Amino acid sequence: MNRQIFRKGLTAALMLLALAPLSMLSAQGRRTHEVGIIAHRGHWRTAGSSQNSRVSLQKAQDLNLFGSEIDVWLTTDGVVMVNHDNKYDGVVLEKSTSAVCCQLVLSNGENMPTLPELLELIATRPSGTKLIIEVKPHSSPERDRAAADSVMALVRRYGLEREVEYISFSMHACNRLVQNDAKAKVAYLKGDKAPAELHALGHAGIDYHVNAFRKHPEWVAEAHALGMYVNVWTIDDDDSIREMINLGVDYITTNEPVRTRELIGR
Ligand code: MG
Repeated sequence: MNRQIFRKGLTAALMLLALAPLSMLSAQGRRTHEVGIIAHRGHWRTAGSSQNSRVSLQKAQDLNLFGSEIDVWLTTDGVVMVNHDNKYDGVVLEKSTSAVCCQLVLSNGENMPTLPELLELIATRPSGTKLIIEVKPHSSPERDRAAADSVMALVRRYGLEREVEYISFSMHACNRLVQNDAKAKVAYLKGDKAPAELHALGHAGIDYHVNAFRKHPEWVAEAHALGMYVNVWTIDDDDSIREMINLGVDYITTNEPVRTRELIGR
C-alpha cells in the first residue's frame, strides 16, 4: 500500500475513535454542543448599561450571547413591565398602572422598559440572542397565571415563539406557560425538584442555583437522559464557572458574560 494513503487511512481511523465518545454521549441524550451564555438581567456591568434595560439587551445582542435574561411584572392595567424587584423607587409594580411605571428612570437614564419594547428589539435587530423571560412570582397564583398569559400573548403577537424561553420560581406560572404552548421552552428555577418530576409536567429544562447542582450533581445527567436542558444561575467567579462547565451544564447565567466566554474558550 502506498505509504501516504496508509497514513491518511490511519488518521481517519484515529479521528473516528476520538469522535466515538461524543456519539455515545449523543445516544444517551447528552448534549455535545458548547456551553451557552445567558446575560443575567442583560449585559449590565458595562458603560451606559443598567439591569433589565434596553441597552443591557442590546449589549447582550452585540456579544452574540445565547440569551439575555429579564424579569417581568404585570401592572394593574395589564401591561408587562421589565424590572427585577417587585418595587422600584417605592412603586410596587404589580399594584401600579403602566403610566406610573413607565415614568420610572433606571440608573443609566432610560425609562423602565415594557416587555413589548424589548420584544421589538429582538424582532428588529439582527441577532441570534434569545430573550429569557423570568415571570416573577406575583401576589397570588391567579396573578402568576395572568402574568404568564400576558407574556405569552405578547410573544405570539410579535411572532417570537422561537426567540423566547421562559423561567419562573412560580410553579403556577411554569405550568400555565406549558399548558398555553406545549412547545414553549419552560424551566423551573427553585431547585427543589428532580428532573423527572418536571419532565412529567412538560417542562423542557431545569434552571437551578449552583448550590442545587452541588447538592445534586446527578440531576445534570438525569435531565439530559430525559432530553431536558440544564441551566445554572448565577455564577460570576472563575472557579464556579469551571466547575459547572465540567459538570456538563448546557447554559450558564452570569453577570460576567465576557469572562465566562473566555473560560469556555471561545
Ligand atoms: Mg431573573
